[in-house]
Amino acid sequence: MRTSIALFTRDLRINDNPMLYAAAVGADRVVPLFVLDPGLPAPPNRAAFLHRCLADLDAALQDLGGALIIRRGDPVTAVSRLIAENDVSDVHVSADVSGYAQRRQERLEEIPGVAVHVHDTVTTAAAPGEITPTGGGDHFAVFTPYLRRWQAAARRTPLPPPPRITTPEADSAEPRDVAQGDGLRAPELADGGERAGRALLAEWAANAVTGYAEGRDDLAGDRTSRLSPHLHFGTLSPVEVLHRAGGGSQGAWEFGRQLAWRDFHHQMLAARPATARQDYRPRGDDWRDAPEELAAWREGRTGYPIVDAGMRQLLREGWMHNRARMITASFLTKTLYVDWREGARHFQWHLVDADVANNQLNWQWVAGTGADTRPNRVLNPLRQAMRYDPAGDYVRRYVPELRGIPGAAVHEPWRLPSCERRALDYPDPVADLAEGRQRFLSARNG
Ligand SMILES: Cc1cc2nc3c(=O)[nH]c(=O)nc-3n(C[C@H](O)[C@H](O)[C@H](O)COP(=O)(O)OP(=O)(O)OC[C@H]3O[C@@H](n4cnc5c(N)ncnc54)[C@H](O)[C@@H]3O)c2cc1C
Repeated sequence: MRTSIALFTRDLRINDNPMLYAAAVGADRVVPLFVLDPGLPAPPNRAAFLHRCLADLDAALQDLGGALIIRRGDPVTAVSRLIAENDVSDVHVSADVSGYAQRRQERLEEIPGVAVHVHDTVTTAAAPGEITPTGGGDHFAVFTPYLRRWQAAARRTPLPPPPRITTPEADSAEPRDVAQGDGLRAPELADGGERAGRALLAEWAANAVTGYAEGRDDLAGDRTSRLSPHLHFGTLSPVEVLHRAGGGSQGAWEFGRQLAWRDFHHQMLAARPATARQDYRPRGDDWRDAPEELAAWREGRTGYPIVDAGMRQLLREGWMHNRARMITASFLTKTLYVDWREGARHFQWHLVDADVANNQLNWQWVAGTGADTRPNRVLNPLRQAMRYDPAGDYVRRYVPELRGIPGAAVHEPWRLPSCERRALDYPDPVADLAEGRQRFLSARNG
């Protein structure tokens, strides 16, 4: 009797999962395994989302006749134990790009006596390394030429769930015992799990994707897909998401372009895993050590309402609109001139969709050390606010102290008559934009 292990990582789904499908059709018995590595940080939002994903995956596997086996510890040690317990001949795992994932894959391949199968196009739509520059090199460093090739690339057809799974008896932990976070989760965190992801995708594909091109920067309208946590945990397949979004409208085209950004960052990280910490393109930045301004930024109390609204959305929902991510990241790195790694660390902790490729490399893009072809670009928070939140509704939604200020005036509370200004429990700006980078809160106080 042939037994395989399907090692789940960032692919917590039964639909369109080539890793699970191959494990199921190629063996009589499958051990669907998830291993929680206690050596990794456990931010509360991602832990809570993961808990729902694991519970949902277990239910889906049970409907197919199997069960999810959950273990804690080093994943490779856990796989080796299960190989010995169940006379396993094959291990299936999805390719992934971080340094951690690449080392895990190499160590799996060193286990003697089993065949290890690494599956591409499970966590990304195009495999990293599949699209490379014609002039040579292992990855693209500029997005536009990558996009052209990515759009022309052939895509596989999404797969159904495997027809049936038989799982041998094995000890398993409970999802709630492994997925416990260090701290309190965001009060308005989205629901995890494949079922929630598929419901969101069905609604998005049927009703909203066509309006995406006009709506994607409308902060108050909240007209992006919010599929990112599902793409991060793999409760949705990027190949299937692209397939379902279709290609007929400008909205679908623009939405596909965003998924190309996702693949673009994955292929960069796959080729240069050290960029999780190091500048992709070092520019000799001499970042400021500014603990007061950094704390104000983290709490959403910089005195710039559009920045504070974004940072408060993050704390309330464990998620932030892309335009707000760009504004807040630019404010930290280009206005306060604080190292992008500080911002990336805060986002990594709170974002439910945080992944190394998209978080670190988007931070680097904004900070000017990444793939941006205009590294000196600075987003002025006031101009961004007037353009992308013209009626001020986004700010009023997330900054309750400013709810009483109507229209666009909410973006400039410093212009209010001083008696009204004093009545607000809202800070003065931490930096004076008109004065450039020189005037900061810390300088005023010290
Ligand atoms: C400083 C900063 C940090 C970021 N950190 C992350 C992160 O940790 N995880 C993450 O998934 N995204 C990150 N992004 C990218 C982007 O902000 C989010 O993917 C997007 O806001 C998610 O919302 P959505 O699903 O509604 O996106 P949509 O606009 O509906 O886009 C669809 C999908 O495309 C992908 N996508 C969209 N924009 C980008 C982008 N710029 N780069 C890569 N993929 C993109 C996402 O998977 C997203 O779900 C970051 C952006 C910035 C500027």
